[in-house]
Amino acid sequence: MKTSVSINPATEEQIAEYNRLTKSETHTKINSAHAAYLQWKTTSYQERAKLLNALADVFETHKDKYALLATSEMGKTLDQAVKEVEKCALICRYYAEHGANLLQNVTVDTEAQQSYVTFQPLGVILAVMPWNFPFYQAIRFLGPAVMAGNTAVLKHASNVQGCAFAIEEAVKQAGFPEGIFTNLNLDSDAIESVIAHENIVAVTLTGSAPAGKSVAAIAGKHLKKSVLELGGNDAYIVLEDANLDKATDLATQGRIQNNGQTCIAAKRFIVLESIYEAFIKLYTEKMGAAKMGDPTDKDTVYGPLARIDLRNELHEQVKKTIAQGGTLLLGGHIPDRKGAYYPATILTDLKPGMEAFNEELFGPVASVIRAKNETEAIALANMSKFGLGAGVITSDAKKGETIALQLEAGNCFVNKLVASDPRLPFGGIKTSGYGRELSEYGIKEFVNIKTVWIN
Ligand code: NAP
Repeated sequence: MKTSVSINPATEEQIAEYNRLTKSETHTKINSAHAAYLQWKTTSYQERAKLLNALADVFETHKDKYALLATSEMGKTLDQAVKEVEKCALICRYYAEHGANLLQNVTVDTEAQQSYVTFQPLGVILAVMPWNFPFYQAIRFLGPAVMAGNTAVLKHASNVQGCAFAIEEAVKQAGFPEGIFTNLNLDSDAIESVIAHENIVAVTLTGSAPAGKSVAAIAGKHLKKSVLELGGNDAYIVLEDANLDKATDLATQGRIQNNGQTCIAAKRFIVLESIYEAFIKLYTEKMGAAKMGDPTDKDTVYGPLARIDLRNELHEQVKKTIAQGGTLLLGGHIPDRKGAYYPATILTDLKPGMEAFNEELFGPVASVIRAKNETEAIALANMSKFGLGAGVITSDAKKGETIALQLEAGNCFVNKLVASDPRLPFGGIKTSGYGRELSEYGIKEFVNIKTVWIN
C-alpha cells in the first residue's frame, strides 16, 4: 500500500502516515462526487449559503485546532495559521452573502422577446493545491465552486494530508451532503487518470510553474478547462520619496511572513539609486532582528521551511546567485540545528540573468536591485517571466498609481503588500498562470455562461 507522510519541519519528526487511494477507489469517489453534483445543482442559493455559513462557523470554532495542524505539517507560525483559518471563514461568508447576486441572470436587450445570460454549474471540479496555505488555498477555490452548484475533489500536496482530511471533516460537520467535497490522497502521477475521468469537467491548480504546465497539458489533451495560479517573483519599486522606515517594514514583513513561502511575497526590491544605501542599511538591520524559531512560540517571527528538500533547494539558489556575482549581505547559510530552518537572507548587486533575479526563491531571501531612475525601475520590474503581483512604495500615491498601471502583473498595490481579498480578483499573467480566483471573476470561472434567447 502506498502512503504519504506528514513530517513536522521544525523537528523532522514524522507526525502521521496516510494511505494513498488506489485507482479504483479514486474512480469510485469521483463517481460519488458526480452523483452528489446531480442533486446539489438543484439546490437553491439560499440552501448553499446556509451551509457555507455553517462551514465558516466550523472554521471559527475550531481555528486553534486547525492552525496547530497547519503549523505542525508545514511550519508556519501559529498566529499566522490562525489568521489563515479565519480567512477561510471570511471567504465562506463572502460567497454565502454575495454568491446569488454575483450569479444573477444578466438581461441583454436584443430583438428577441427575451434574451439573457445565465450562470449554471458545470459538474465535478478537480483542485490540485499546494502546502503553503493548506486551508486557505483549498477554500479559496471551494467556496465559490460549491456556491455556484459544482462539487469538488481535491488532490492536496502530499505533506499536508492532515489538513486535507480536516477540511473534508469540516465540510461534513457543517452539514454538506456526502460527496460535495472529497479529499483524494494521490501521488501527482495519478492526476492524469483523474483529469481523464468522464465525470471530471475542469481542473484548477495552485502551485509551481512545472506542475502547472504538466496539468495544463493533460487538461488540454482531454479538452477540459483549466485555471492556473502559479509562482511569482514580485517586484516592489521603492521610489526616492518613500518613507524608508515604512518601506523597510513592508519589505521585512513581505519577505518573511509565512516563512517566506508565499506566491505573492515581495521578492525583488528595486530601489532608486539615491536611497539605495540607506535602504539596505535599515533593511539589513530589520531582517537581521526578526526572530527565527519554533513556530509554536509566540515571539517567533518566522519558522522553518516546509520541507528539508525545499530548504536545501533554496540554499542552492542562493549559492548560485552569489557565484553569478550577487553579494550576500545577510544570512545565506544552513543553521546548525534540527529542522528545515533557513535564516532571513539579503542578496544585493543583482542583475537580470542571475538566479535570484530570474527565478522564484521560495523562502525568506530578499533580492535588492539598484535602479538609476523610475523608467529603469519599471523596466527591471517587468523583466520577469512571472506576472503575479507587484508593488510601488512612495509618498506620492498618484505617481504610485501611474507606475502600478505600467507593471506587468495581475495584482498591483501601492504602499501596501499585495494580498488577496474575497471582494477582488486574484491571479496572474505570463508564467504566473491564467484565470482568476475570488470575487465575481472567480465564481464565474467554473460555470456555463449560457446565452438564452426566446422569440
Ligand atoms: P508544487 O510542487 O507545484 O505542488 C503543488 C501541487 O501540485 C501539489 O499538490 C503537488 O503534489 C502537485 N504537483 C506537483 N508536481 C506535479 C505534476 N508534475 N503534475 C501534477 N501535480 C503536481 O508547488 P508547492 O511546492 O506545493 O507550492 C509552491 C509553489 O506554489 C510556488 O511556486 C508558489 O509561488 C506557488 N503558489 C501559487 C499561488 C497562487 O495563488 N498563484 C499560491 C500559493 C502557491 P505533491 O505534493 O504530491 O507533489
